Amino acid sequence: MSALPPSKAPAAAPVEATKPSNFLRQIIEADLANGTYAARQWAGSPGDAAHHAAGLPDPAKIRTRFPPEPNGYLHIGHAKSICLNFGLARDYGGVCHLRFDDTNPEKEDTEYVNAIIDTVKWLGFDWNGAADAAPYQASDYFDFMYRAAEYLVTAGHAYVDEQTVEQIRINRGDFGKPGVDSPFRSRTPAENLAIFREMRDGQHEDGSMVLRAKIDMASPNINMRDPAIYRIRRATHHHTGDKWCIYPMYTFAHPIEDALEQITHSICTLEFEDQRPFYDWLLARLCEGGLLASPPPHQYEFARLNLTYVVTSKRKLAQLVYDHKVSGWDDPRMPTIVGLRRRGYTPEALNLFAERIGVTKSDSWIDYSTLEGCLRETLDHSAPRAMAVLDPVKLVLTNWNSVMGAGQLDACSAPVHPHLPELGKRQFNIGKEVWIERGDYEETPPKGFFRLFPGNKVRLKYGHVISCTGAVKDADGRVTEVHAELIPDTKSGTPGADAVKVKGVITWVAVADGLPAEVRMYDRLFIDAQPDAGGKDFIESLNPNSLKVVQAIVEPSLAAAKADDKFQFERHGYFVADRVDHVQGTKLVFNLAVGLKDSWGK
Ligand code: ATP
Ligand code: MG
Repeated sequence: MSALPPSKAPAAAPVEATKPSNFLRQIIEADLANGTYAARQWAGSPGDAAHHAAGLPDPAKIRTRFPPEPNGYLHIGHAKSICLNFGLARDYGGVCHLRFDDTNPEKEDTEYVNAIIDTVKWLGFDWNGAADAAPYQASDYFDFMYRAAEYLVTAGHAYVDEQTVEQIRINRGDFGKPGVDSPFRSRTPAENLAIFREMRDGQHEDGSMVLRAKIDMASPNINMRDPAIYRIRRATHHHTGDKWCIYPMYTFAHPIEDALEQITHSICTLEFEDQRPFYDWLLARLCEGGLLASPPPHQYEFARLNLTYVVTSKRKLAQLVYDHKVSGWDDPRMPTIVGLRRRGYTPEALNLFAERIGVTKSDSWIDYSTLEGCLRETLDHSAPRAMAVLDPVKLVLTNWNSVMGAGQLDACSAPVHPHLPELGKRQFNIGKEVWIERGDYEETPPKGFFRLFPGNKVRLKYGHVISCTGAVKDADGRVTEVHAELIPDTKSGTPGADAVKVKGVITWVAVADGLPAEVRMYDRLFIDAQPDAGGKDFIESLNPNSLKVVQAIVEPSLAAAKADDKFQFERHGYFVADRVDHVQGTKLVFNLAVGLKDSWGK
């Protein structure tokens, strides 16, 4: 066992009355009321029964855990699990453990370990009972796991099987057919112990034999038909090196990890439901043998997150990265948490999403617009506003020199946020030339079009009312300049400004002080709501228009934008200064986070 710092007592927070209940909250509340785990001891670090018996009563009322395998970046599904496990611990005076499930020697990488640590912190949580605690790692428990396996062998609960993989598969039977005992099942504990030690000592080939739990070859649950618990695998592990040539199977390792850490509520996704009888069987054996503290943890299953227009399998996300379908794990179109963060998602939005979708015991699909709605809601009440012209065409105010004076600029201002006056005002100018959206001018307006067309008046938002007189076009008929006259004494905020009534208000940025910016207009990565359902090739439903880069002009207040700052570009949506490419004041790069309205679901 590694030397881990003893953890401090958690601060018990009262459950917020506003949190909707769910089956897990009900289970925890019942356990707390019944004192199910009240007598547990905790020695300050994970360990066996004797270790905890020498400790103190556990100050954590419950212990939950988030146990990622460090073989990829965390995604939105993991965010659900993180918010759930850490949230329950926080709400019930407990502690949530971050544990790297690194029992599989082949698939780990410290790049992933570090990214996972950053992500959990960024979501607002700390683990193992202290702000600076080291995460736990399952490979620290290999010694105990080996000891537990020897105990099972000695007690007659496990045996070494030398059947081939194929024989084991056939003899396991299926739903309609009971299994057949292995010819090696009746070896004595002493024989099994001797061969198991030979396995450990490297005297047998990879794959030549496995250690199996001895349970019930006729069980209706196939997972109980003598599951393999240890295999021979000569592989160098990133923590334990070449110390081991046998490794525990996940189904054996996981319950033990939970128990050593004194987890009370081990929450996992539904596909592990059939494993629960083995989880209980194993921990019951190790408790009765005195190896593990009682009562053991209990496993509960909830429905994993399925989100429309998204794939969440780590393998498929890796394929998108390695086949260069996206720019990396943190591409703003990726459902990875690093991708969502670069897209403008905040911890607040992801926590709100997790809370809003809740936890259930049956699988369902959550609409992508639910996630976007959470972002929109959280940004709406905080994001500063700004004007940006995404498809600029020049508007010339032809009477500017006579009414305002040649070369003159007129100062305008607007609230940083309409409901947060304490944030103050943004300042910008209007001049003879301003940028407007190309789509705001129509030579022959369609019905219901209230913006610029010859003879119509509109207000330049926070500026003056103008009257359109026409446009200049190039040889191809494309508009190069829109012309209008400024109507004096109509400036927003000045007396009599409303004397001239208009139906349309347009956004704009002055040529004199507008700043060029690259704006990345992101859309969903897939056009199919269930890109990988039924074994479909998800690559085929990639959205070819998921990224459009435009050269925009933005108002001067955005010179102060720092990477990761979020804004509402008026009329357009919410944008974030790109955390990789944006350079404050020098190179402005904004990513579309989410539009102002849900334009997809409908
Ligand atoms: P993937 O299938 O993407 O590789 P995984 O389940 O193998 O994911 P782990 O690292 O083992 O990834 O997951 C850590 C935890 O996150 C597990 O407890 C798992 O239940 C949970 N988790 C993973 N995907 C989801 C999801 N889509 N919804 C909810 N929880 C999830
Ligand atoms: Mg997994």
